[in-house]
Amino acid sequence: MRLWGTMRGTMKLTWRRLSVHTKYPFRIARPGSSVDGNDVHRIIVEIERDGIVGRGEAAPSSFYGQSLETVEATLAQAGPLLGDDPFQIGPIVDRLLYRFNDHRAAVAAIDEALHDWVGQKLEVPVWRLLGLDAAAVPPTSMTVGIDNLDLIAQKTREASAFEIIKVKVGTADDEAILSTVREHAPHQVLRVDANCGWSADQARDRIEAIRRFNLELIEQPIASGQYDALQRLTEAVDVPVITDEDSATPDDVLKLAGRVDGVNVKLSKCGGIRQGFDMIRLARAHGLKVMVGCMVETSIGVSAIAQLAPLADFADLDGHLLLADDPFTGPVLRGATVYPPDAPGLGIGSA
Ligand SMILES: [Mg+2]
Repeated sequence: MRLWGTMRGTMKLTWRRLSVHTKYPFRIARPGSSVDGNDVHRIIVEIERDGIVGRGEAAPSSFYGQSLETVEATLAQAGPLLGDDPFQIGPIVDRLLYRFNDHRAAVAAIDEALHDWVGQKLEVPVWRLLGLDAAAVPPTSMTVGIDNLDLIAQKTREASAFEIIKVKVGTADDEAILSTVREHAPHQVLRVDANCGWSADQARDRIEAIRRFNLELIEQPIASGQYDALQRLTEAVDVPVITDEDSATPDDVLKLAGRVDGVNVKLSKCGGIRQGFDMIRLARAHGLKVMVGCMVETSIGVSAIAQLAPLADFADLDGHLLLADDPFTGPVLRGATVYPPDAPGLGIGSA
């Protein structure tokens, strides 16, 4: 008995480095940002078979012990493990995670390329392949990074078309930063992201000092791995606490369940669309809110996570919008929402 036609031909994995640039220098509270000033270095992965090319993006972060070199080394070892059938996304990703669990940014790029390939082959967008409704995507936030107050004011004004602004905090100047943003965005929803910037002892006071700015949520207030402190903080403040650095994988969701209000899911942290889907379902089963986010990355990476955005309560899909020279197109900005495209696969085109 044959359940499915035999696949002929072979699957070819290739990759190349790509340097792009942010419009403004990108700064966050902790070291290990995946952006160096304005310079963003990514690896674009291609999987070719039957004349169809699927693409994915690796956004390595030194915070997770990843670099361009570790991504390339992982890809070189991963090639022979892929097999010949791109439809086998499940077994392929499982094999790769078993071998390269510390290098999930590379695994994510392969997972994205496989989804893109399958979607193109079947002529459906990935979100439809996953059984999702693109109309359900929540509006995205636009990020205002750490900077001097004049530039923060300028960036806030430039974000006026967005309903939600995500303000990077975790510095000694948080109140001045938020005061400036609030002045130039009196009616927008404000979220803050401390990127581990507050100590467990000071976090509660820091939050009390800024809650008058009417915050929708707080992302990763303290350094990762401090689950008890995170739980005490979540119980003590009335602003929802969402983890990011703490919530990399489905396993992390289990550790965080009952301790925080929600988790930020990013493909380069968890290992791709398949892992991200699992992570979101697991978070839901444990009553956690879900944010979908991205690194500063091109339209390939953002389109990949946008495919899962219909499952999210909060979207932070502005990575490509922060770039001055994104070479690709894909995600569709309509009003204040970044939607996954209607085109097959990830719907990637050239800018
Ligand atoms: Mg974050």
